[in-house]
Amino acid sequence: MSYSDLLDAIKQNQINVDEKRLQTVYDFAAAAHQGQVRKSGDPYISHPLAAAEILAGWRQPQPVLEAALLHDVVEDTSRSLEEIERLFGPEIAFLVGGVTKIGRVKLRGSTDTVFVENLRKMFVAMARDIRVVLIRLADRLHNMQTLAAVPLSKQKQIARETLEIYSPLAERLGMGQLKGDLEDLAFPFLYPNEYERLTKEAETRIRVAEKTTTKAIQSIKELLAANDITAEVHGRHKRKYSLYRKLNRPGIDGDWSKIHDLVALRIITATKRDCYAALGLVHGLWQPAPALGISDFIAQPKPNGYQSIHTKVFDHKGNIIEVQIRTREMHEEAEYGAAAHTHYSAAKETGASDEKLEKGLAFTVKEKIDWIRELANWQKETESNEDYVNGLKLDALSERIYVFSPHGDVYDLPKDATPVDFAFAVHSDLGNHIQGAKVNQKIVPLNYQLKSGDLVEIIKSKGKHLPNRGWLPFVKTSKARSKITKLNRLS
Ligand code: MN
Repeated sequence: MSYSDLLDAIKQNQINVDEKRLQTVYDFAAAAHQGQVRKSGDPYISHPLAAAEILAGWRQPQPVLEAALLHDVVEDTSRSLEEIERLFGPEIAFLVGGVTKIGRVKLRGSTDTVFVENLRKMFVAMARDIRVVLIRLADRLHNMQTLAAVPLSKQKQIARETLEIYSPLAERLGMGQLKGDLEDLAFPFLYPNEYERLTKEAETRIRVAEKTTTKAIQSIKELLAANDITAEVHGRHKRKYSLYRKLNRPGIDGDWSKIHDLVALRIITATKRDCYAALGLVHGLWQPAPALGISDFIAQPKPNGYQSIHTKVFDHKGNIIEVQIRTREMHEEAEYGAAAHTHYSAAKETGASDEKLEKGLAFTVKEKIDWIRELANWQKETESNEDYVNGLKLDALSERIYVFSPHGDVYDLPKDATPVDFAFAVHSDLGNHIQGAKVNQKIVPLNYQLKSGDLVEIIKSKGKHLPNRGWLPFVKTSKARSKITKLNRLS
């Protein structure tokens, strides 16, 4: 991976860039990482370059590509965010700062569901801008592509984190292709035996399915052409991890004969009307399999926006084939999701000025709406039943903050919680030893209002002492309040 590869990707995806400026950013990043090597032995700069190339593939505009080139500079080199802001402006500094911050969200030992759920929420709450998330996802994709070079002990941990945090996030954002890529990259590292068995068992079955679909594709193509419907018809292979999950689903229980979409047939039309016309033709050609049903996700999209018609039919030999029908636009949306929303040319088509496009301003409003909608959906899924109604409210997320302990644990606290609330959330014994507090390594007053992503450290007193009643006016959690009151009453 070299700088000229990135330029090629930019040209291929027709992204307008100021090459002189991009070169300056690249030179700065390359100089900052000078002498650093990755575990693979490659020069470090090959990694930010690869992340930028992935983002170019998602047709992201120049500021995103620049931030991708710089994304590890603050964390891993001696150059500061202030310097980046001075040299490349506030927008780039905002993106790099955001990427650096959410990079601290790490899945450590625990895979406890509440903990993982908090991590996911923390991730989105901290990102604040969808472009920040896209850069992190591109970063993760490349790290997964090069995971083999990482020491064995870390491989599983990174793979698990990818499955727990990143692929659900990609799915949430409607980025089907990325979700599949991340899962299939993580699968062999996390479950090597299952991966091997599945690969072996799937091999012949896929070959048979391919033969069936190849013939079916030909018949459908002819049928559509005869009826003047312009469409692309191709086969799509079910991804391995998704297949593994499906096989383990109750009701399927490892029974391969219940898997009908090993290779599905995809019809991509120009218009929605043609989707339904194609559906009629397919059902006219082959008998629908009534028990297996038909799903019209065009009329009723999935929560993440996914649209497509899925139907299962018997071909002339009695093989069950799944046929998926969607428009080109729905297809792009299903593969690239949130990345498709920030699409440069799409924004341009809606009449955004070049100046706004260059600054990334053209995306703000629509992006904000999408982002909020996605967050709301995310929230709906992760909230427990009890909190379901609250979860529907957009501000539910902003009412909580997520902070780190020095050990990297994540604590879920109400908005404006203080280090005192944090101490009691960790352990009441820690609450009884509060001497002072540090946030992000700086000493702060005890009434300091914490923000998502803060690293909070309690400076412990030597001996145990009563919590101070003077803290009562500013603590936010009932736990801290009741402990302070109770302990003082007992004395
Ligand atoms: Mn990175």
